[in-house]
Amino acid sequence: MLPLIFDQSRSGRTAIDIPDADKAFPEISLEDCLPAKLLRQEPADLPEVDELSCVRHFTRLSQRNFSIDTHFYPLGSCTMKYNPRFNEALASWPQLFDIHPYQDEASLQGALQIAWEVERYLAEISGLPGVCLQPAAGAQGELAGLLTIKACLRSRGQGARGKVLIPESAHGTNPASCAFADLQVVPLKAGPDGDVDMADLDAKLDEQTAALMITNPSTLGLFEKNIQLICQKVHAVGGMVYMDGANLNAMLGVTRPGDFGVDVMHTNLHKTFSTPHGGGGPGAGPIMVCEELIPFLPVPRIVQREGRYSLSSDAPDSIGRVRGFLGNMGMVFRAWAYIRAYGRGLRKVAEHAVLHANYLRVRLSGHYDVAFPRICQHEVVLSLKRLKKETGVNTLDVAKRLLDYGFHAPTIYFPLVVPEALMIEPTETESLETLDSFVEALLAIHREAHEQPELVRSAPNSLRLRRLDEVKAARKPVTRRFGCPAKSEPGT
Ligand SMILES: *Cc1c(COP(=O)(O)O)cnc(C)c1O
Repeated sequence: MLPLIFDQSRSGRTAIDIPDADKAFPEISLEDCLPAKLLRQEPADLPEVDELSCVRHFTRLSQRNFSIDTHFYPLGSCTMKYNPRFNEALASWPQLFDIHPYQDEASLQGALQIAWEVERYLAEISGLPGVCLQPAAGAQGELAGLLTIKACLRSRGQGARGKVLIPESAHGTNPASCAFADLQVVPLKAGPDGDVDMADLDAKLDEQTAALMITNPSTLGLFEKNIQLICQKVHAVGGMVYMDGANLNAMLGVTRPGDFGVDVMHTNLHKTFSTPHGGGGPGAGPIMVCEELIPFLPVPRIVQREGRYSLSSDAPDSIGRVRGFLGNMGMVFRAWAYIRAYGRGLRKVAEHAVLHANYLRVRLSGHYDVAFPRICQHEVVLSLKRLKKETGVNTLDVAKRLLDYGFHAPTIYFPLVVPEALMIEPTETESLETLDSFVEALLAIHREAHEQPELVRSAPNSLRLRRLDEVKAARKPVTRRFGCPAKSEPGT
């Protein structure tokens, strides 16, 4: 193994030759530009290495991680599907990559046209006519959507309605967004089949209900089979229906939320529409709304007139901006490429996403307990409660052992309503061979749990780092370089 980059440091070695700033600009001194208290007293203690060593260092670090380009990544609720390189090629086209939002509209026609077309595609896919691309994440879409609902209720003279009913099987961002929007969360129970308990819904719906906010498919990976009736009941008391459609993978081209009664929803371009994610962004969580909510959508809006595109902020009832300019345009360009490449074939995305999850469900169900044994959508949730009771091996152990087998771990301990949950989302872009080898790994781990549980409990055994104290790593991260304890904290 090559030495760590700090051990490779040799005094005076350098990757590039930067001209001496003092000599290049003798009339400007650093002290004139920066207050003295911000200037370093001593040079930074950086390794002195050549360019190739530097490239190798960062490439090696990148390979220590699991990524969608190197490993199967069945992280539930995250849709880690393949990011087609075609999308990247289009988004890095200089005519799109190098534009600036302050250019005049005449020189931005192509970019505006793409954004406008993505709006029209999302309207068609969702069955909801009004679209705003601004929100930079699913959670921000939720906030924007809830604010449009609030503005609409105010305009109806019902601004006092403040309750939002949220099923237990909702994504955690749903109640958080309600809190942000100053709305009160009322939890709804799940019935024995995982769907909303209709008696509980009837008991809690009333004239104070602003909205019902439902994740569909739910975080149990299930399509809410009463969704149409639920929407009718909410509308009957004057409330609106928000659907969290971050994972629209299971629905594309098969069914449309607008058709089954949803008033507003968001979707995540950085999940369903294959734009890359992880590491915190950038993302895009556009919202789609019904006719009645269009006047309240954020501004500016893209307007098309006789083939010319412009931005308009002429919307007196708008909730205003939720983000700078039009949002993360790079994500919008990639989503455009993705949607155009599939065309009507988008339906196949959904069919394969659902088929893959159900294939795993059926193949694993002889050994593992499926939380809700019915046809699932794009993901399947297992409960490892029985395995834990029989062997002492828990969900975290199984997830860590999967790393030894070369698979990124699924989502664990979520959804909260399933004990020892393991939430697997294979996505449509994996081959049958990959799915089979993942099944084989899980079956092997199941055997190991019974025969040599210590092997599973001590995993990962083959990676560079063993099991970490994740809480400590998050709360007290050691960000200093490896092998160099801080002077004040010996042994850190
Ligand atoms: C990922 C996800 C979100 C949140 O999306 P962000 O872009 O991370 O804010 C919300 N709801 C569901 C169901 C999700 O899967």
